[in-house]
Amino acid sequence: MARPRGAIEVTCTNPRCGYFNREMGKNIIRRGKNGAGHQRYFCLWCRTYFVETSGTVLYHRHLSEDEMDQIYGLLVEKRGIRSMERITGHHRDTIGRILEDMAEHAKMVIDHLINDLGFTPVECDELWSTLIKNRKRLSTKARLELRKVMPGPEPA
Ligand SMILES: [Zn+2]
Repeated sequence: MARPRGAIEVTCTNPRCGYFNREMGKNIIRRGKNGAGHQRYFCLWCRTYFVETSGTVLYHRHLSEDEMDQIYGLLVEKRGIRSMERITGHHRDTIGRILEDMAEHAKMVIDHLINDLGFTPVECDELWSTLIKNRKRLSTKARLELRKVMPGPEPA
């Protein structure tokens, strides 16, 4: 299938679609932006709209991008979870789950930090090492995702 100009990086986020998370044979077009300014997409197979944040940390946690960016900043400052709880007003269990999600979406989070927020690679490393210190019992999936983006030995 010929690709339209400007390759579309996303895959369908509808679990009931035959092309859910499938790159091969997908048929997705851009369709405007939503109220928050995120690119909106349309899957021509299942006729469903979704936005670029679907399937990501931002989408699942119902936190604004500003709130997530505040948490990234606090992690770079090596804040502990209780400190983050006081500053953000979110319960520490919620913050723990956010950190877990961040680890699972590590690649996407890093792209956002560097491209949109102007973080340096060194600051990103600070963020991940703080995350690991804060969250000792990351899931296997989260650990595997972190290993993909963190240089050096596996985090202990
Ligand atoms: Zn679809």
